[in-house]
Amino acid sequence: MIILSVKDVRTRKAHRCYGCGLRWAPGTPMTAVVCSDGRRLNTCHWCAACVDVGQDWLNSFDEYEGLPGDIRNADVPRWLAVARRHGLIPALCAG
Ligand SMILES: [Zn+2]
Repeated sequence: MIILSVKDVRTRKAHRCYGCGLRWAPGTPMTAVVCSDGRRLNTCHWCAACVDVGQDWLNSFDEYEGLPGDIRNADVPRWLAVARRHGLIPALCAG
């Protein structure tokens, strides 16, 4: 997918993060990423930990080939450490 815009938001409803695949509660600061698969626009949300771990892709405004959960699954201990640093407690997310 090709990344078209990246914007920080505070969510009004629960969103599943594209990077980690976890569902985060309403009111969580997330990053809304608008992308295109070549046919239609899509908005996906990223939690702060995944933005941090995946920032090379997001900042490139280029193609991202990952699937939901890839950012966390690539290195779970590193992702957990970053999530804790951002004050995110994965055990308390909506699942
Ligand atoms: Zn995430």
